[in-house]
Amino acid sequence: MKPSKFKNQKQEKPGIESEMTPKPEYISKKYKASGKLKNKIAVITGGDSGIGRSIAVHYAHEGADIAIIYLSENKDAKETKKLVEAQNRKCLLLKGDITDEKFCKKCIDDVLKEYGHMNIIINNAGTHFNADTPTEVTTENLKKTFETNIYPLFYFVKAALPHLKKGDTIINTSSVTANRGSDHLLDYSSTKGAISTFTKSLATMLAKKGIRVNGVAPGPIWTPLIVSSFDDLEKFGKDTPMGRAGQPSEVGPAYVFLASQDSSYITGQMIHVNGGEIVGS
Ligand code: NAD
Ligand code: MG
Repeated sequence: MKPSKFKNQKQEKPGIESEMTPKPEYISKKYKASGKLKNKIAVITGGDSGIGRSIAVHYAHEGADIAIIYLSENKDAKETKKLVEAQNRKCLLLKGDITDEKFCKKCIDDVLKEYGHMNIIINNAGTHFNADTPTEVTTENLKKTFETNIYPLFYFVKAALPHLKKGDTIINTSSVTANRGSDHLLDYSSTKGAISTFTKSLATMLAKKGIRVNGVAPGPIWTPLIVSSFDDLEKFGKDTPMGRAGQPSEVGPAYVFLASQDSSYITGQMIHVNGGEIVGS
């Protein structure tokens, strides 16, 4: 069997943003905030780094207080907290494993204790393990991928829903691989397909309550997840129509739009932030 062109078929720790070169950009210097999320409370899984950090920082600029949930990356989480606090907003750090339903419920309880309510749930944490053939997808990695990427959406929504009201929003991070497939992420792309369908179904269920559910499907974005997974980083993102990978700073604003009043007639939809690849819904 030819060796995998990718790194992490085995279980590895998540990548660390503070160790990346070059550092990802989490917000553009050109970004202009306008109080779109003033005094909202946002819960962001995987908010320590990458796309999650970008969401946290944009939301803080827009006037929201934040709770971020992360697996183990204390240094990255503290840095995100610092960036949020620099905007005079609060940032609650919740460390633990979202594959554990009890932990997810406790996170929601802790957010209520700290802030008294919540308005925006961002299901963004995720993991993947590369494999070039179906037989290389180990049962261990298959289970871990589904348990991390899709089960917690049910756990968080079940725990948070009694506390959400009209005008509140849920936003899920999918992936371009949900739409076009992947030749090295069979299990991961399957979970992302599930996330996209979960988004549509939940949107339909909650529309009458006035709670909107949408998603963002990123293409190749320069984050710790990528650096911890791929060997050939030079080529990363080069096959998009724009010919480059995106920065987290180019993804965060889509989450601002979907959480704010500006998207009040949009539910069950995906925004494709992918450098121009044309995909279906
Ligand atoms: P990232 O490594 O910065 O973020 C992923 C986060 O998930 C980590 O910070 C980690 O703390 C958290 N996490 C993983 N397993 C967890 C667990 N069991 N319990 C608690 N937290 C856990 O990388 P990222 O690229 O910003 O990833 C964010 C999301 O974006 C993921 O869902 C990923 O699939 C998705 N995505 C990324 C890209 C890309 O190219 N970077 C493309 C499409 C989709
Ligand atoms: Mg991280």
